[in-house]
Amino acid sequence: MLNDKIVLITGASRGIGAATTRLFAQKGYGVCINFLKDEIAAEQLKNEILQYQVKCITVKADVSKASEVKRLFKTVDEELGCLSVLVNNVGILKTQCRLDEIDEQRFSQVLTTNVMSCFLCSQQAVKRMSSKYGGKGGSIVNVSSGAAKSGSPNEYIDYAASKGAIDSLTKGLAIEVAGEGIRVNAVRPGLIHTDIHASGGEPNRIDRLKAKIPMQRGGEPAEVAEAIYWLASEKSSFATGSFIDIAGGL
Ligand code: NAD
Repeated sequence: MLNDKIVLITGASRGIGAATTRLFAQKGYGVCINFLKDEIAAEQLKNEILQYQVKCITVKADVSKASEVKRLFKTVDEELGCLSVLVNNVGILKTQCRLDEIDEQRFSQVLTTNVMSCFLCSQQAVKRMSSKYGGKGGSIVNVSSGAAKSGSPNEYIDYAASKGAIDSLTKGLAIEVAGEGIRVNAVRPGLIHTDIHASGGEPNRIDRLKAKIPMQRGGEPAEVAEAIYWLASEKSSFATGSFIDIAGGL
């Protein structure tokens, strides 16, 4: 199994990350499935995608920590080879509440997980992809959120702030490395049916959110994966610093 193109997807054992893993594998990419806790789900996904005759590894790593990110990328170098695509997919969302109910620990955890992971992984990817360091170029796709634009008042402004930071990282890095053969883009999903919404809180929240969506439904992880794949692939060769809303018109 010699796959020319290699993708690393963070937080890939379920949800949007798992759907993205499936799509890249179908397209012939060798895949690294990063996961934090759910080893069984990660191994099941690996077994599922091996049917596409692609190389695949699973690597447990907390991508908000520099030492674990370094180990993750070293493993990709050694076991898969030259990285072509990084998908910064990791993200956490806590129960909705107002500003005065968000404590320092929660704010710090959400910002560290969502933003530090993107920063650290992008830094390692650029070191490998940049023509400045002898790399062959590549593509980074960040998973932001519609919350970056709405600010998510009364729900989770910590999460919205983290996604606003992802948007700034996307734009700034895109311009910084545009001359080095690397493109950096982002998707901004709206309401997508995944376990990220299982944190409890208001019982009718999903129905309330759906009522605001012009297409009158939530999205599926596979619908976000298609946009991620397009932004990563050569089909979007002139797009960098770009954002695609996958939000049913919201
Ligand atoms: P999810 O909870 O199913 O997936 C997130 C994954 O990230 C989980 O597998 C989790 O274990 C992993 N993870 C969390 N912290 C980690 C860490 N430190 N290191 C490694 N892995 C870690 O949720 P999802 O909906 O698939 O979310 C994927 C991305 O999409 C997130 O960035 C999320 O913010 C974004 N998003 C989701 C929605 C939605 O409605 N589902 C909307 C907008 C944006």
